[in-house]
Amino acid sequence: MSGDSNAAVRDVVIVGSGVAGLSAAVYAARADLEPLVLEGPEPGGQLTLTTDVENYLGFPEGVGGMELIQRGKEQAERFGAEFEHGTVEDATLEDRPFELELADGDAVRTRSLIVATGASARWVGADGEDELMGYGVSTCATCDGAFHRGDDVLVIGGGDSAMEEALFLAKFADSVTVVHRRDELRASEVMAERARNHEKIAFRWNTELLEIHGSREEGVTGATLVAHPDGHPTEKLEETAAPRAASEVERETVDVGGIFYGVGHVPNTDFLEDTPVELADSGHLETLEGMTTETAVEGVFGAGDVMDPDYRQAVTSAGTGSMAALDAEAWLEAEAARPELQPSDPAPSV
Ligand code: NAP
Repeated sequence: MSGDSNAAVRDVVIVGSGVAGLSAAVYAARADLEPLVLEGPEPGGQLTLTTDVENYLGFPEGVGGMELIQRGKEQAERFGAEFEHGTVEDATLEDRPFELELADGDAVRTRSLIVATGASARWVGADGEDELMGYGVSTCATCDGAFHRGDDVLVIGGGDSAMEEALFLAKFADSVTVVHRRDELRASEVMAERARNHEKIAFRWNTELLEIHGSREEGVTGATLVAHPDGHPTEKLEETAAPRAASEVERETVDVGGIFYGVGHVPNTDFLEDTPVELADSGHLETLEGMTTETAVEGVFGAGDVMDPDYRQAVTSAGTGSMAALDAEAWLEAEAARPELQPSDPAPSV
């Protein structure tokens, strides 16, 4: 591995600065472990892209996602956590101390590692999205919604993210159409109800986005949608699908000025692929069974959305962040107390 490997060895490095990483930083800093937080390519994580967080304990009126993150960072810094811009590209976890290679070529060495790299927005896979992402196609309504004042826009997805995007976009757009691949929303009832009751928001059921029209100069001008009465229409267009089902798929081209994706997230674990840390088929970091953040590699812990395919809430991420710091602290203490093997010690009997 390249980079400056002579740098001091840290007790704890936390990769990721979303709510899980910040919570881990507060706990590790209060335990005098002087954690280093590597902020990653999206400092603050998903909450910085959210409007109001209404279900985080202690904020009866709700709190802005960005404000929650800023306060968390201040809190961690107050206890001595150090923050550095840096994205981990590669990790060597076979030997200790662990070594992390950053995108700028620097290396960081640490006795324990907390992986809190979260998850990033999933793309749909429609034709044209590679070219038009950032040019009228977006994964973040709070970032790009204001560019669509007076437009007709689509939101793809049926979960809470899609409802949140639709509600936010309805402030600017003339009309918002939620395109969902089934006929039933996955979103929580409260969010679904708000979207259903909004006069600017309509729904297209059993429908998917096949193709996006437009150019980088003009932006998005339209979209081809496909629909099938049983849902999941694009699956029915695949070569392996029954010809009858394919013939029942209806296509329609609509004029729209913007397309927003709210189809979930994929965990950020690329840098762990060639390490002994175990990853699930979904890419999530596997932790050991039971209530722990430990992984298959001693001294490596996971926290937040990167290890949690089920709950994925800000408050649960803060919870697993604190657990990871406590687990790391206990592990470091146990390691420090372990007697070193001396040359004069008898060899262990076999
Ligand atoms: P999610 O719950 O996994 O929903 C993703 C949605 O996108 C699903 O409806 C899914 O369809 C659809 N989808 C996935 N891949 C697709 C594709 N390739 N093409 C078309 N549609 C696709 O993800 P999320 O909405 O981001 O929510 C994640 C977690 O965060 C949830 O626990 C949610 O409660 C939480 N969250 C909460 C709030 C809030 O409370 N304010 C806001 C945002 C998120 P299917 O339904 O058919 O699978």
